[in-house]
Amino acid sequence: MYLTKRFFGLNLLTVLLSIGLTALATVIFTAVYTKFLGREVYLNEMKRMFEVRAGIHELARDMQKLSFDQLLNPAVQQDLSLRVQAWGADAVLLKNRETVFATKPFNQIDLEKGLLLTDGAAEGETMNFGGHAYFFEHVPYALPSDGSGVLLLLSPVKLNLGFYKVLFLFAAGFFILTLLLLNVWVSYRFSRAVILPVSRLKNAAAKISEGDLSGGIAEEGEGEVRELCRALELMRIKLKESVYLQEKYDENRKFLVSSISHDLKTPVTSIKGYIEGVLDGVAQTPEKLQEYLETARSKAVLVNTMMDDLLLYSSLDLNQLPYHFEPCDLKGYFEDCVADHRYEYDQAGIALELAVELERPVTVRIDRERMRRVIQNILDNAAKYMNKPDGRVTVILRETRSSAIIEIQDNGSGIPEEDLPYIFERFYRVDAARRNASGSGLGLAIAKQIVEGHEGTIWARSKAGEGTRMILSLKKG
Ligand code: ADP
Repeated sequence: MYLTKRFFGLNLLTVLLSIGLTALATVIFTAVYTKFLGREVYLNEMKRMFEVRAGIHELARDMQKLSFDQLLNPAVQQDLSLRVQAWGADAVLLKNRETVFATKPFNQIDLEKGLLLTDGAAEGETMNFGGHAYFFEHVPYALPSDGSGVLLLLSPVKLNLGFYKVLFLFAAGFFILTLLLLNVWVSYRFSRAVILPVSRLKNAAAKISEGDLSGGIAEEGEGEVRELCRALELMRIKLKESVYLQEKYDENRKFLVSSISHDLKTPVTSIKGYIEGVLDGVAQTPEKLQEYLETARSKAVLVNTMMDDLLLYSSLDLNQLPYHFEPCDLKGYFEDCVADHRYEYDQAGIALELAVELERPVTVRIDRERMRRVIQNILDNAAKYMNKPDGRVTVILRETRSSAIIEIQDNGSGIPEEDLPYIFERFYRVDAARRNASGSGLGLAIAKQIVEGHEGTIWARSKAGEGTRMILSLKKG
């Protein structure tokens, strides 16, 4: 609708502008023609012509008030002669088509013709008479004796039409040229506003249909075209998202299959080995049998944990698990978390502390269960990779202006610098940890996904041999 209106509006503007410009050009042309080129001032002639017309019209009205007999009076005729000549006109008085008085001699045939033409002619008409154009006034008189009298007032039209012809040609030419140029301009504007963007849209749509979703569609053009660009760009983004999601699904599926076949293979193979050992009678003493079965059981527990982690990781990766955020007091929440791990840490002989460096209560919006999983993974690692007799883990709570900072410090084995950038990747395990088979290699990857699900960040600082600091930043709620 907008474009239709705009199209009509522009076209109307073109016509109006052409008319306006032509009028202006005509005025300038006349001024240049008359003033600067010093040609005759035809405009004054035109004015004079109108004055003459008005003059002889008035004269005719005055004459009409007189009777025909009065007109035969030489004094009246004298006066009439003076008045018509003042206008550069002539007068002819006819009685029964016979000339009784004339300011100048006229051909009788022309007069006859003139009488015929002027009788009943409309006001303002001109008449061609003896090879000249005249304005005329026809004043009829009824004579007392049978017959008719006519006074013809004839004023020659002296207008030089040459200039007007030139002016007309100039104006017409100028109008057509302006209209053409303005039309070219309108077409150019229209093509920029509509045709170019539409052809770009066509190319973009063709690319999309070929499956290339990389190029963004710029919002250009006007009105409906702009809206179309926006709609197509939205469609492209949605399509790209769904393609991305589809790819992610596929990748996830492959990842699950490959990790099940790769990472789960080792514990499953050893379970199989131990059970075969039992069946083949390799474990001959009850203690040996107990040990074999115990090992097989712990491997089965590990497989179970790995399966759980795998499923959790892939669900998080596909955003399949909704979060239930709720405001939560930071200090209270971490006191609970620390308390949950106290027993396990005591058993392992590791000191666990909570250091609250907050000046006032801080609230965070978190999914309590999910966040508990993050803290559990970090605290489990801190205990798992502890290699000092005086093991110590400290949970420190701090705040910045907009965030709550949670730091979990340990004095364990630490992480080599070259491994540090990768520990949040799935299945990444530092070599030393590989020897200790009790992890899935997904703990920190899961932690990172959950923290990012809270729009927070997690990172690590570590020095091999000295210890590790895991740092979480969460938005204050
Ligand atoms: P894993 O199941 O192997 O613990 P994670 O994803 O939890 O997997 O951790 C990845 C790797 O990062 C671990 O294998 C370990 O080498 C290293 N790591 C994590 N936390 C610590 C820590 N507190 N101290 C030393 N190394 C750690």
